[in-house]
Amino acid sequence: MQYILTDPVTALGPIAKKVQKPLKILGINTIRDLLFYYPWRHEDLLQQLRLIGDIKDGDKVSVRAKIELVKNARTRGRGLMIAEARIVDRSGSLRAVWFNQPFIGKILKPGEEYYFVGKVSGGRFGLELSNPLFERVKTEQVHTARIVPMYALSGSLTQKQLRFLIHRSLSAIKELDDYLPEFIKRRYQLLPYQSAIREIHFPTSQHLLSAARRRLSFDELFIIQLSNLKLRRELRQEKAVPVVFDQVATVKFIEQLPFTLTQGQKIAGWEIIKDLAKPYPMNRLLNGDVGSGKTVVAMIAALNVIRHKGQVAVLAPTEILAWQHFNTISKVFHGTAVTTALLTSKKMMINRASLSLEVKEIKRKELLTLLKEGSIDLIVGTHALLPADVNFHRLILVVVDEQHRFGVEQRRALREKSRHYHPHLLSMTATPIPRTLTLSLYGDLDISLLREMPTGRLFPKTFVVKSAWRARAYARIIEEIKKGRQVYVICPLIDPSDDLGVKSVKSEYDYLAKEIFSQFRLGLLHGKMPLKEKEAVMEAFRLGQLDVFISTTVIEVGIDVPNATVMMIEGAERFGLATLHQLRGRVGRGSDQAYCFLFPTSSEADMARLSIFEKSTDGFSLAEKDLELRGQGDIFGTRQSGEVELKIASLTDIGLVTMARTAALMLLQKDQKMRSFPHLAKYLATEQAKVHLE
Ligand code: ADP
Ligand code: MG
Repeated sequence: MQYILTDPVTALGPIAKKVQKPLKILGINTIRDLLFYYPWRHEDLLQQLRLIGDIKDGDKVSVRAKIELVKNARTRGRGLMIAEARIVDRSGSLRAVWFNQPFIGKILKPGEEYYFVGKVSGGRFGLELSNPLFERVKTEQVHTARIVPMYALSGSLTQKQLRFLIHRSLSAIKELDDYLPEFIKRRYQLLPYQSAIREIHFPTSQHLLSAARRRLSFDELFIIQLSNLKLRRELRQEKAVPVVFDQVATVKFIEQLPFTLTQGQKIAGWEIIKDLAKPYPMNRLLNGDVGSGKTVVAMIAALNVIRHKGQVAVLAPTEILAWQHFNTISKVFHGTAVTTALLTSKKMMINRASLSLEVKEIKRKELLTLLKEGSIDLIVGTHALLPADVNFHRLILVVVDEQHRFGVEQRRALREKSRHYHPHLLSMTATPIPRTLTLSLYGDLDISLLREMPTGRLFPKTFVVKSAWRARAYARIIEEIKKGRQVYVICPLIDPSDDLGVKSVKSEYDYLAKEIFSQFRLGLLHGKMPLKEKEAVMEAFRLGQLDVFISTTVIEVGIDVPNATVMMIEGAERFGLATLHQLRGRVGRGSDQAYCFLFPTSSEADMARLSIFEKSTDGFSLAEKDLELRGQGDIFGTRQSGEVELKIASLTDIGLVTMARTAALMLLQKDQKMRSFPHLAKYLATEQAKVHLE
């Protein structure tokens, strides 16, 4: 049968119809989906091929043997149908049995040769194979005597069914265009696309399997590199307003700060000022640990833009963060003539000319008018800033907090707010991005790093607490509270039913309130609470009206309470090192010694990881370690996980990443518009459309 890529899986016949549901769960709806559902490993059954005379009880074997005799029988007692065959090769003979599959007795032909795959066990009549898979030697092997693919499954779906369906779909491969230009394939000795897809499922040799993996991994990395580099080039051709550096105002601004800038802040500030002066848009990422002081760096940039009669938008991922930013920023600009405002879906505020510390509520309509006529210099907001009725007078700088990448859609939405030019873009993140990822993922961005923390901070002392020491840890924490300090307690999940054995915020709250911290004031926060309640709890904690703040990781990016000196993390092994590091960064913001207690629930293996964390203070090296130990998903956490979906490549394969980058550069040098590579241009467009950015 000939199938086409767009056929629904059900075209493949009754088996496909039967497993349509589990396939759907895996995201497989069409023949194309099947072909792009790569196996996660393979088994070399050819290697396992044995002579019957050599096999032993308990082996998983493949044998090539002739059917001597087949019969159906019914077991005594329970009356199960069994099909039974005697199979022979030159070294001996063996019994094979199948339970409750009477049709097998009709399929197997005596005198015919088959491959059998199954587990050997010692039965009442000597060794036997029970329920083995079998295929005729004469036909092509799919399940036996070859390197067989093993897929991730769902529901009732079996390997055999999925393998069968994918094998059937192979005929549609010939529709696939090889989008990779010849010169790249030749240069890096890459397998043709169609062979790569075929070989990744049904490899004809180990060598070709590796070659298929290499080709498909290369492709994924190449597409990322290509789209990043292309974006970078395209952006350079856009017009932006070059912002003239206002040295006097900048120096004055820095001098009135209650602290001196760190070396890193000065360098980053300078890098940004230089970017802003260019006639094309800045696209820079400011990367620095929690508490490294990114905001003030962004505000140096904002100040210059405002002095240049431009407007600044600061985008935060949540209402709470937006609110917090608005407050800090209003304070930073206190006494200057800068007017700041806040726009979220629920809150609209304004601080006129930052003359007083008084912020006022304002109607959305009025705010939008002021924004449009240019009376607001800087606006902080959530995605509520993006709709088309939010118009600026002269939007020159967009600062994005805690979103690693700005989505194509958002970029476009903002682009449309400044009709004749493109805004400069500064993203900020506290997620330490390892160098290896910078190279593979962030090729379109320039990066400024804040590696040092402001001086005068003591790094939190970190302890992994074994269960026997829990009581002592609580005692230590109570001492801190009695000194007037505040405490965070972080739990991984919300409902007790989410997962057995893992502390959830709700039950933890009840427990701590009753048994441990009964004399203190406790607050609870989790992601499912209404915003108003969240804000109220956070505000109470900030004002010191609560001693203990029990929460899920929603505070991972967020609140700044210098009086909090203890961070307690339950189920600590559940978190990636980078996340733990960010949580730890929530304390030690004042000048007193802070503490981070990790309470693991279980296993020894995780203890090694946690003890690395206990010893290290550097977010970047922890992130590198995380990447090495748990892969890229952890670095970004769930919030960002939709960002890049790699099916086969590893972002840390530096050899291949570098190769893909060189290839992408070469290609763009040859033909930036990719006119001579139409297949590639088309493929790139569909892949880019798929990448979901926030
Ligand atoms: P983050 O990088 O996590 O966004 P913030 O910008 O919120 O950090 O800064 C954290 C705190 O450190 C703020 O209270 C800020 O005023 C303060 N801060 C920033 N830079 C310095 C510095 N150079 N010296 C001392 N404190 C600083
Ligand atoms: Mg911040």
